[in-house]
Amino acid sequence: MADEWFAEPPYGGVQQRYRVLERLYSQTTPWQTLEVLDLEGPGRALILAGTLQTSLNEEFTYHEPLVHVALFAHPNPHRVLIIGGGDGGALRHVLLHPSIDRALEVEIDQAVVEASLRFLPEISGGAYSDQRAELKIDDGARFLAETSERFDVILVDSTDPVGPAAALISPEFLQHARHALAPGGLMAMQSGSPVSQPREFLATVRAFKNTFRIVKPYLGYVPIYPAMLWSWVIGSEEVDPTSYDDVSVRNRLEQLRESLRIYSPAVHRAAFALPRYVQSLLELTDRDLDKPPTAAELRAAGHPLPGVVA
Ligand code: SAM
Repeated sequence: MADEWFAEPPYGGVQQRYRVLERLYSQTTPWQTLEVLDLEGPGRALILAGTLQTSLNEEFTYHEPLVHVALFAHPNPHRVLIIGGGDGGALRHVLLHPSIDRALEVEIDQAVVEASLRFLPEISGGAYSDQRAELKIDDGARFLAETSERFDVILVDSTDPVGPAAALISPEFLQHARHALAPGGLMAMQSGSPVSQPREFLATVRAFKNTFRIVKPYLGYVPIYPAMLWSWVIGSEEVDPTSYDDVSVRNRLEQLRESLRIYSPAVHRAAFALPRYVQSLLELTDRDLDKPPTAAELRAAGHPLPGVVA
């Protein structure tokens, strides 16, 4: 019988695909299509709205940069808000930090949590049972608009900014997030790929620049994501995530309940060292980006795939 493949949506004439070993689950939730496939390479994987979200073998490549760069950039985080993150991976990584007293996850789709616990329990690793954790099924945008709680770190671990996640890039959302940060707090969010989604990357960074005094994008490699080179962005009024106390981070890193496979002080520092073409792309956010950059502007910035559309 011919091999079956799962393919990510194409970008700039490129498409990544994975051999399907088994189709385990599929449903249409009130928010999105949801599938669990066993893929050669990534292993069991969660797919939402047709795009790979996370997988048993590779979850750390996304959750470590999102969670640990942000938490180690904060001198002493106690209260963390996660928006999205229904697979529980970000929650598990947050709770590795002994300084955390409270980790609240606001996930819009209960079905994602249920399917992740049923088919991919290793990703949350029991985090939802930790007495410091709370799961709230709600729209993260609505929660932030209404909450009076304050957080040291806010992590947005959402799907791409379409569908239910479209609200998570609006100026109102980001202003509500800034308001919900405790003094010295910071916010981190995935900002797509500078290679396969340059316009999404720039729009997210620009939205952060319109909201926070300090904005620092950083990079990492997520093999199951389009073009693999991925980005996150940190915004804060007071904290510069590129300047942190190396000795303190080393001491705190040794207190984590498990050793990490990516994060180290050196990786933290290197993540913010952006290739020159990414720096050139970011200069486009300093002008009035009322319309996304054209293919010619991407090419002029040295972008490797000017034909991309996202
Ligand atoms: N953690 C995964 C990864 O490694 O990239 C992907 C993120 S997680 C599965 C994305 C979650 O964001 C989904 O469960 C989705 O339901 C949730 N989400 C999307 N829009 C949301 C919103 N407005 N409020 C709360 N959660 C939202």
